[in-house]
Amino acid sequence: MAYGRHFLFVPGPSNVPERVLRAMDRAMVDHRSSAFPAFTREILSGLKELARTTEGQPFVFSATGTGAWEAALSNTLSPGDAVLAPRFGMFSQLWITLAERLGLEVRVIEQEWGEAASADKVEEALHHDKARAIKAVLLVHNETSTGVTSDIGAMRAALDKYDHPALLCVDGVSSIGALEFRMDDWGVDLAITGSQKGLMLPPGLGIVWASTRAVAAQAQAEIRRAYFRFDDMAASNEGGYFPYTPPLSLLYGLREVLQMLLAEGHEAIQARHARLAEGVRRAVKAWGLELCARSKGIASNTVTAVRVPDGIDAAAAIDIAFRRYDLSLGGGLGKVAGKVFRIGTMGDINELMVLGAVAGAEMALRDVGVRISPGSGVAAAMEYYRSIDPAAD
Ligand code: PLP
Repeated sequence: MAYGRHFLFVPGPSNVPERVLRAMDRAMVDHRSSAFPAFTREILSGLKELARTTEGQPFVFSATGTGAWEAALSNTLSPGDAVLAPRFGMFSQLWITLAERLGLEVRVIEQEWGEAASADKVEEALHHDKARAIKAVLLVHNETSTGVTSDIGAMRAALDKYDHPALLCVDGVSSIGALEFRMDDWGVDLAITGSQKGLMLPPGLGIVWASTRAVAAQAQAEIRRAYFRFDDMAASNEGGYFPYTPPLSLLYGLREVLQMLLAEGHEAIQARHARLAEGVRRAVKAWGLELCARSKGIASNTVTAVRVPDGIDAAAAIDIAFRRYDLSLGGGLGKVAGKVFRIGTMGDINELMVLGAVAGAEMALRDVGVRISPGSGVAAAMEYYRSIDPAAD
C-alpha cells in the first residue's frame, strides 16, 4: 500500500521515534578520535541508570538479544555447569537450547505456556541442590511469546532463602526500557537486552549488564569465547573505546533514546506502557477473547498475546491484517502457533495508534469468522483511554 503509515504492532522491532531516526542519520566519525570517549561514557552511564544499577557494568555488542544471551553465559560459566531454567514460552525455550549448545547441563522446570516462571518451583530446586551444583538460574522476565511478566524479586528471594550462590541471569529483552527493572534491588547478576524493543531502536545491539560477581566469574569460566569477551570490551571501554569498529549509527540512536527515557523517568515509562497495554486488554475482553496469560496480574504491558477461538487460524487473521489493513501483528510462536496473535505496545506509539491497531485486528478477526460485535474492542479501549489522563499523573 502506498499511502499512509504502516501500523507496526509486532512486539519488536518497535517503532523508532523520529528524533531517534534523525540522531542516527548522520555521517560516520572516527571511533578512535580523542572526542569519542566522552560519547562512549555518556552511553555507558545512561545504560546503568536505565537498568537501575550502580555496580553493574554494561557491555554493548554488535549483536541481537540472542548474542547477548551467549555473551552472558559464555563469560561466566563452564561446560558441564548445571543451570536452572523454567520453560514457559518460546524465548525461555530458545535460551535453553542456546545454553545446551554451549555445553551447559540445563535443569528445566517445565511449566504451561501462559504461566509466569514459578518462584516456588525455583525455590524447591534450589532447596534440593545441597551440593550447590546449580551455577546459574536463567529467567525470561517478559515472555514475549505468551505476553507474561514474571516476578524477578521473588526469584532473588528464593536464592537468598537458601543463601544459594547461583548467578541470577535475567532476559530483559522485552522488558528493559519499558517495564519495571531493578538490577541492583533484585540482585540480578546478568541482565540482557536487545535494541529493538523497549529501546525503540533498529535491531543490532545486544546489551549485557554484569554484576561485580558476574564480572569476576570470567576468571573461572571455561566456555570458549572469542568475539563476545567481557574482558576485551571492558579494557577498551575503560578508555572510552571499543575493541572493534562499533555500530556508530545505532550508538547515536542509543544515546538519543537514553536521553529521552531518562528524562521521562522510570515511573512515567512504566505508567505509559501500563496504560497502552490496558487499553488492548479492555478490547480483548470486549471481544470476548482470552489472553494467553493465565491470570491478569501476570499479563505483560509490552505485549498482549490473545487466544483466538478454536477452529480459527490466528495466522490467517494476521495475514489479512497485513495485506488488507496495512497492520503488522505478531504471530503465535512454537506451541501456540496459529492459536494466538500478539499486539506489541513498545516504542514510539500512542493511544490513537493503539486504537488503530485494535480496529485493524478487529476487522481481520471478523474477516476470518470470529464473532465479534463491530467496534466493541475499539469502544472499550477508547473509553478506557478517555478515563485516564496521563498529564494528570
Ligand atoms: N528474548 C526475548 C524475551 C525476546 O522477545 C527475543 C526476541 O523477540 C529474544 C530473546 C531474542 O532476541 P533477538 O531476536 O534480538 O536475538
